[in-house]
Amino acid sequence: MSNIYDVVVIGSGPAGYVCAIRAAQLGQKVAIIELWADDKQKPVFGGTCLNVGCIPSKALLDSSHKFVEAKDHFAVHGINVEVPGIDVAAMMARKTQIVGQLTQGVAGLLKHNGVEVIQGRGMLHANRKVEVTALDGSTQQLEAHNVVLAAGSEPINIPPAPVDNDLIVDSTGALEFSEVPARLGVIGAGVIGLELGSVWGRLGSEVVLLEALDSFLPAMDQQIAKESQKIFKKQKLDIRLGARVTGTEVKDGKVEVTYAQGDETLTEVFDKLIVSVGRRPRTNDLFASDSGVTTDERGFVYVNDYCATEAPGVWAIGDIVRGPMLAHKGSEEGVMVAERIVGKPNQLNYDCVPSIIYTDPEVAAVGKTEQELKSEGVEYKSGTFPFAAIGRALASGNTDGMVKILADKKTDRILGAHCVGPSAADLVQQMVIAMEFGSSAEDIQLMVFGHPTLSEAVHEAALAVDGHAIHMANRKKR
Ligand code: FAD
Ligand code: NAD
Repeated sequence: MSNIYDVVVIGSGPAGYVCAIRAAQLGQKVAIIELWADDKQKPVFGGTCLNVGCIPSKALLDSSHKFVEAKDHFAVHGINVEVPGIDVAAMMARKTQIVGQLTQGVAGLLKHNGVEVIQGRGMLHANRKVEVTALDGSTQQLEAHNVVLAAGSEPINIPPAPVDNDLIVDSTGALEFSEVPARLGVIGAGVIGLELGSVWGRLGSEVVLLEALDSFLPAMDQQIAKESQKIFKKQKLDIRLGARVTGTEVKDGKVEVTYAQGDETLTEVFDKLIVSVGRRPRTNDLFASDSGVTTDERGFVYVNDYCATEAPGVWAIGDIVRGPMLAHKGSEEGVMVAERIVGKPNQLNYDCVPSIIYTDPEVAAVGKTEQELKSEGVEYKSGTFPFAAIGRALASGNTDGMVKILADKKTDRILGAHCVGPSAADLVQQMVIAMEFGSSAEDIQLMVFGHPTLSEAVHEAALAVDGHAIHMANRKKR
């Protein structure tokens, strides 16, 4: 017997559960299939983001940040504390509690919106038929007018450093250390490497990041990337570029890593090694060959601008499709698809998806980088403003970094905004709003910004685009 739904969603990460809720809000009969189960075999919602990604990593980033504040930064404010200690178990318990609260919250939202939850592994067949294999191996068949694939991603493994979940771990293992490793190696100085390297570095690990590429954060605006690199160096994150790991050996409870850098072959011994070299879409067992869904050679499902696959009535969203692997990008794709299913012409502006690295300070960006504009031959104007000249940044003692705004030379329209500095994520979000409304740099120049706030750096960077920032000496005169 087959059950017929308006919408079946496979995967309950931030892409899938948001899509399911929005579709249910729009009056659709919705089922969501999730295979992740807890130790009591109950379904776990929220995917990578809530369980082993965004949320637990930010919980540890915030805890470790508070530790560093107390240890290194309170004294300058005239606050004397005893040298603080670290209780890793308590830190982990707090993280687990936050994750539980949020995942149960998603369960509650699905129930409240009348989304039917089906536990097991979903697989798409021809004509939008979905087979669900339960944990006990039993199967059931579903049918749907629309199927939304939202199976997410998993860490990439590299042969020279096989994850053993003991000494060599991926991002999930790196959220679970029971003590602070004295020496921590990280393969890959990307987002995860920097965030989790920061967590353990703040708590006392000596952290070495081995990055295969010769440039640091190549997708970021290079001026901001260079500024960030300087700041991370001050924080004693030892970032080695052009370092290609060729092998690892576990001996005497430690892991020896061999890597090539230039003509040299070097070794380092670590107490733990994190492998964070990117993630790949989880599309192996998601659809049968007769489903009509196709992927590229890396496994990403082919979709159009609206996340429709090549199979009629089948959609794909989140980490399994092109674009950045970001929770908010997947969620908005989920909303777009749900609305398109009921005929609402929603579309997502992929030029305005912000990305953030939650180090301290944060690194955040939206839109084009300067190197992209150069390579596309776009004529542009650039304005930067340092936090060192912002009163509120001085008052709080967070003066590292800058805001950078790029605008079209002819039309003045803002094309990109980049920031490394305090609250960079929230400052760049202001620019996301501005860019969505097609703002010019002049629009920002003419707005009133509260004083004293960090946002004044956005105002001044916009003024600097035309060479008339007030609180610094401008290079060009207007
Ligand atoms: P996922 O979250 O991976 O969810 C997919 C779900 O589908 C899972 O629950 C899985 O069990 C289920 N599933 C898979 N196959 C099947 C099947 N066949 N049947 C049934 N269920 C299935 N992004 C940010 O935007 N901000 C951050 O700060 C951030 N921090 C991160 C930190 C870390 C350490 C990591 C690893 C990632 C982070 N990300 C962050 C990325 C973010 O987690 C992902 O982009 C996001 O979770 C992708 O959402 P998704 O719904 O596409 O997939
Ligand atoms: P990443 O792509 O950000 O970084 C991987 C890094 O590893 C790159 O710099 C790459 O050059 C390097 N690398 C690849 N192979 C290597 C090798 N053999 N040796 C040494 N270096 C190597 O990937 P990630 O940090 O694993 O994160 C995965 C995804 O998760 C990202 O795409 C990101 O979008 C998402 N994520 C986002 C956030 C956030 O939004 N704050 C946080 C964590 C993860």
